[in-house]
Amino acid sequence: SLRRLKCGQFLAKQTLTLDDDVNDDTTTSPLASVSPDLLQQIVYDALVWSSLNGLVVGGKSVQKSGTVPGVGMVHAPFSLLPVNFPESHWRQACELAPIFNDLVDRVSLDGKFLQEALARTKKVDAFTRRLLEIHSKMLEMNKKEELVLGLHRSDYMLDERTKNLLQIELNTISSSFAGLSCVVSELHRTLLNQYGKYVELDFNRVPQNTAVTEFAKALAQAWKEYSNSRAVVMIVVQSEEHNITIRRTLAEIDSEGQLLPDGTLLVDGCAVAVIYFRAGYAPNDYPSESEWRARLLMEQSSAVKCPSISYHLTGTKKIQQELAKPNILERFLENKDDIAKLRKCFAGLWSLDDSNIVKEAIKRPELFVLKPQREGGGNNIYGNDVREILMKLQKEDSEELNAYILMQRIFPVVSSALLVREGISHQEETISELGIYGAYLRNKDKVIMNDHCGYLVRTKVSSSNEGGVAAGFAVLDSIYVT
Ligand code: ADP
Ligand code: MG
Ligand code: MG
Repeated sequence: SLRRLKCGQFLAKQTLTLDDDVNDDTTTSPLASVSPDLLQQIVYDALVWSSLNGLVVGGKSVQKSGTVPGVGMVHAPFSLLPVNFPESHWRQACELAPIFNDLVDRVSLDGKFLQEALARTKKVDAFTRRLLEIHSKMLEMNKKEELVLGLHRSDYMLDERTKNLLQIELNTISSSFAGLSCVVSELHRTLLNQYGKYVELDFNRVPQNTAVTEFAKALAQAWKEYSNSRAVVMIVVQSEEHNITIRRTLAEIDSEGQLLPDGTLLVDGCAVAVIYFRAGYAPNDYPSESEWRARLLMEQSSAVKCPSISYHLTGTKKIQQELAKPNILERFLENKDDIAKLRKCFAGLWSLDDSNIVKEAIKRPELFVLKPQREGGGNNIYGNDVREILMKLQKEDSEELNAYILMQRIFPVVSSALLVREGISHQEETISELGIYGAYLRNKDKVIMNDHCGYLVRTKVSSSNEGGVAAGFAVLDSIYVT
């Protein structure tokens, strides 16, 4: 199929050029045999290439870089070489993307399921409550979304012990780094093209990354389906935005936005066909009622919202946990193979009303991650903190337990890598997380696009609990298919 060709397209060129035993699951870096001088040169070249090819972000040390695009640029942190990743797991992850796209769409259409599954979370989590209130209003209005656009990223780690690919989470809002992930794959291909012979690596084994073009194609296609050639694509951003886009903040949309009787959203007098949310996923994005008004205004409009409120809610960790319960996937999908494939990548997920699992987590907190309904990295709870919070909430018999889910802690394969930050490289023991982007576009009954499109690898020191490049924990990376 087309899908299979896409994730295997680099294979034809590579098969003859490499010994099979070069890329065993080894933890020694291919850089181990490289002289310090050559290593310096590779790092230097990587830094020059990054500056010339836009592997850069607005650096946080330059204050204006968050508000004035193009000021205070610094190279994005990256791993010097791509991380080994087994081909079968790479294919499996690609294959899952359209199935997850389908699942999100089906779940999003079941308003009652979303409301019920999040009912107890709502009581203790004000942010989720606000989102659900907008969702209820849309249900009451019987608002129908004819045009639906999902730009998702499903994240995985490879479990060391079982060698299973396990899902960390599914992002349905502000799935980050579609742009930079492609640039970093290109950096790795370029470096290996030039220095591959010294490290015995073939650049063809770094899959070409199509995330940015495919996401752009999906946005453009959604714009086309909206059929108003004068309408624009609007990107919603945070007021301090270190990503470079054409921007409107939620507060600006509140003051400049207007809804016409036919549902058209005008911002500053301009009709909006597609709204892409690069912000709006975190409580901090809504410092006042103005931002909530803007979110409601957009939801009421006929503009294609990426994501709609129901897609946003479908991406919450609570829904991830509910979908992992027995017989729930069957409510949304018919194809047994697809269901089996999804289930295979589900890690252990539990609601905290299961007192046995709470007891277990208090006994062995290192085997669990406690997750609130937040996005953007840095919010999860690990180790002894899990025990302390659970004991406290249990003692108080607190409903606040419902704000969290428990997840099996995944211990991924550890490998050695050279991480480059602010021009300085550090050799580290690292773990990696693979994200696969997926795009889905539907116009009424017609599915126009449903595919995997490109990938993101984030690598971090193995001792760090959290991920997140923007949050400062991880660096950008690619995979080297073995
Ligand atoms: P967010 O929406 O904030 O990105 P995630 O669920 O992705 O939340 O968690 C953030 C980071 O925490 C992940 O990138 C990963 O590094 C780590 N993490 C999350 N869940 C697990 C898990 N079950 N096992 C190990 N690490 C995890
Ligand atoms: Mg997330
Ligand atoms: Mg994440």
